[in-house]
Amino acid sequence: MKNAFFPGSFDPPTHGHLNIIERAARIFDKLYVVVAINEAKRSLFSTEERLDLIRKLTSHLPNIEVVAWHGLVVDFVDRYSVSLMIRGVRALADFGYEFELAMTNKSLNKNIEIIFFPTDPQYFVLRSSAIKEIASFGGDISAMVPQIVADALKRKLIPIDKS
Ligand code: ADP
Repeated sequence: MKNAFFPGSFDPPTHGHLNIIERAARIFDKLYVVVAINEAKRSLFSTEERLDLIRKLTSHLPNIEVVAWHGLVVDFVDRYSVSLMIRGVRALADFGYEFELAMTNKSLNKNIEIIFFPTDPQYFVLRSSAIKEIASFGGDISAMVPQIVADALKRKLIPIDKS
């Protein structure tokens, strides 16, 4: 069994995240999608909301398990006995950040292996933070996120007065 895990904030999940999840699910026998809880980062969606959205969006994939994790992702490796960590990379700027993070994680737990998935070109510009900002101004984010996420964003965000 080749298992892997894909950690992130997923606040909220986008088509970019789902693309990585679907591609990784085809390669690995089992993929854990890990909603990393970080109290230092203020999130728009609660952990339960993010878990629920990802579970609904991946219900067609039988080899996915969506879990929440509190603490260092390197500790997830030991707890779930899964050493392959997937990270998605968009632009070169992502790569610099992800490479440094990989070095840090490797120094914290030498058993971890990190695999980078380059984004598919149509998802190049998708970023949760930008999507939240566009949505908060009442912009159209329907092409960037699945419908249930667009609806959840609409419920969550009262458009900021543009006057
Ligand atoms: P984090 O807060 O840990 O950066 P995110 O939820 O932003 O978590 O992203 C989780 C993972 O998904 C990261 O590896 C990130 O690079 C990747 N990712 C996010 N958006 C995209 C996208 N559009 N295409 C490919 N990978 C992406």
